[in-house]
Amino acid sequence: MSNYLIRNATVIAVDATHGTEPFSTSIRIADGLISEMAVGLEARPGEQIINGADSLIIPGMVNAHAHNWENLWRGTQDNMPLEVWMLMCYPVVGSDPLSPELVRLRTLLMAAESLKSGVTTVVDDAYEIPFQKMEHLAAEFAAYEQAGIRANLSGQIADKPFLDTMPFAREFLSSAAQKIAGELEVTSAADYLAFAREAISKFDRTAEHGRLRFMVGPSAPQRCTPELLTGCSALAKEFDLELHTHVLETRTQRVTSDEFYNGSFVEWFDELGVLSPHVTLAHGVWLNEKELGLLAENGCSISHNPLSNMKLASGLMPWSEVRRAGVNVAIGTDGVCSSDTQRVSEVMKATALVHKLTSDNPEDWPTAGQVLEAATINGARSAQLGSTVGSLEVGKEADLVIYDLNTLAFSPRQQVDLQLVYSENGSSIRTVMVAGRIIVDEGELVTIDESQLLQDVREITPWLHEWQSKAMAENEIFVEGFWKQYRKSMKMFSGQERYRTRDWSRRATS
Ligand SMILES: [Zn+2]
Repeated sequence: MSNYLIRNATVIAVDATHGTEPFSTSIRIADGLISEMAVGLEARPGEQIINGADSLIIPGMVNAHAHNWENLWRGTQDNMPLEVWMLMCYPVVGSDPLSPELVRLRTLLMAAESLKSGVTTVVDDAYEIPFQKMEHLAAEFAAYEQAGIRANLSGQIADKPFLDTMPFAREFLSSAAQKIAGELEVTSAADYLAFAREAISKFDRTAEHGRLRFMVGPSAPQRCTPELLTGCSALAKEFDLELHTHVLETRTQRVTSDEFYNGSFVEWFDELGVLSPHVTLAHGVWLNEKELGLLAENGCSISHNPLSNMKLASGLMPWSEVRRAGVNVAIGTDGVCSSDTQRVSEVMKATALVHKLTSDNPEDWPTAGQVLEAATINGARSAQLGSTVGSLEVGKEADLVIYDLNTLAFSPRQQVDLQLVYSENGSSIRTVMVAGRIIVDEGELVTIDESQLLQDVREITPWLHEWQSKAMAENEIFVEGFWKQYRKSMKMFSGQERYRTRDWSRRATS
């Protein structure tokens, strides 16, 4: 492995001393780690020199929520709420298992777009229909090993019968649809936990510097049994893994929580002893004040996915309330069928902008520094990697992005942190390094043959269209019932406004 000296760059370290304030320094990288940071470092024999003049260096970004499954569904859906949308790109029936080769391909797509846009860690909540097998997981880990990216990869699982995972399914689905859904095979908690143990022994902390991690992914409270949730929690604690789950993404889920879980998924998690610093909740759009308090008390994280939440009209996580409660907020893209990007920089910009609409008090508005933290150190904490990556500090892994400051986005050069969040779109990226290895060089991928990848995808596209059409046709039987379920939930949903800051006192008394 090469050692490097990056000389005299502008750096946003996101560390305890500098925060997100830019400063000038040199960075020495030895054996994949940041070994020294100081002004005027001299080169040592054998080191490769990178001229940092006119460069901005930041920690590699962490995508705290994504699903590589969707990389075969990009550009297929619009104007559907999550519950109906899921039926379209996560078909309930009619989807044959994908070959490991296709799984590898779609994972490489995700890695390629991530790396080229400065994302060095992906939290990939991998899901497979009908079931994830060890060969699927092996193909995903192999793709990430090749790509050179850092990844937490699940294991996403649901172990409740499909009809029990959503409200009013038996009220609105036709008896024929219910019969089909009732015949779907369900994994048991015991089987999944055994699968997860085997996956940990095979894949967790593999590749150089242990950059590939397994994570447990109980899909969502309404889809999981207490045995599965407590079993996943125990594994997370035993092996120091991330436990990744979806909570209160939509108003329908808030209604589900209120109607069927005595008012709160999060309180239910708490009663089960599931809440811990290992836990990241994707979305958390419709959390109430008490739930935020429980998450903060237990050191949990939320992965905020505003692009996905806007596209699926799910709502908006209350940024300032979540931060004030003391919950660690990371940001994610979600899958490319709902966002439709793996570029965390786009999510940074959206986050910085959209929450300014929710309050007339500037203190509630995200700063560029806050969203940069969310995209780096907070994401690392949420991924259980807070002491490994997420900031540029001596002793941490050299996961970093080097931007060329001689570009349109940074001209004229003024407050580069603001320009990074509001102007830069990935086109200024020169170099991306993961664990001290250059993965993107002069904007081009070193580890993936991009033109070959695109050709491979072109070749499977006719088959892909056929496969998707077949799946959608077979799932047509559910569509009307799902829309009815959605409309009933919207009628039942009470209180919280979507765009303005939540008025907790009103919610408490209504
Ligand atoms: Zn998701």
